[in-house]
Amino acid sequence: MKAVVFDLDETLIDRSSAVTRFAERLWESNLSNGELSQIDFVNDVHLKDRHGYTPRDEFFTLMWEAYSKAFTSKSTIEDAFYDQVWETPVLAEGVIEWLSRLRELNIPLGIVSNGSTRAQQAKIKHSRIGDYFSVTIVSEAFGVKKPDPTIYQSAADQLGLSAHECWFVGDHPVNDVWGSKQVGFQTAWVHLNRPWLPDLDPCYDVKGESFSATMDAVLEKERGV
Ligand SMILES: [Mg+2]
Repeated sequence: MKAVVFDLDETLIDRSSAVTRFAERLWESNLSNGELSQIDFVNDVHLKDRHGYTPRDEFFTLMWEAYSKAFTSKSTIEDAFYDQVWETPVLAEGVIEWLSRLRELNIPLGIVSNGSTRAQQAKIKHSRIGDYFSVTIVSEAFGVKKPDPTIYQSAADQLGLSAHECWFVGDHPVNDVWGSKQVGFQTAWVHLNRPWLPDLDPCYDVKGESFSATMDAVLEKERGV
């Protein structure tokens, strides 16, 4: 293992927990006097968010349409979201320990993330993990998204390595595992107890139910080679 490249959301960052916190606080400040329970509101926010795959403007419009009675403006919802999800992100358990350990082993690290430059850079900055990474590629600035092969290949190129010498660690079967496998990465799937896609070959080399469990599996596989 000469380098490790990571996905950001739901791999290094526990985006789902940050969204839950956003929804809980929004309910407490604006909806707690109404009929809707906090748990139902939180679940509805997650449905509308679709793990971040709903475009942001569409997400805020959906929220505003559903809950306009409870808020003075759509920007109230937007501001709360950016505050909770971008500016105070939640790291997955064990991330700092693993990044420190890999740095001690002199293994260079990278991030390849789909999303807006503003959002992803804010999450990296506010979670204070930026210094661990020698390569950071965000799709908006790069010009193409995962699973376009050039985005993974560029990470390997910037690390000065061939893709075969690198691991890619992420939660998305297509965007993280399948895509990076196509250019030759060794792949680790953080499954978070979600199913693999029925029509896709299970092309990961190792998997784990959490970030830490997945990194344990990577290290075990490396030691076995
Ligand atoms: Mg992800």
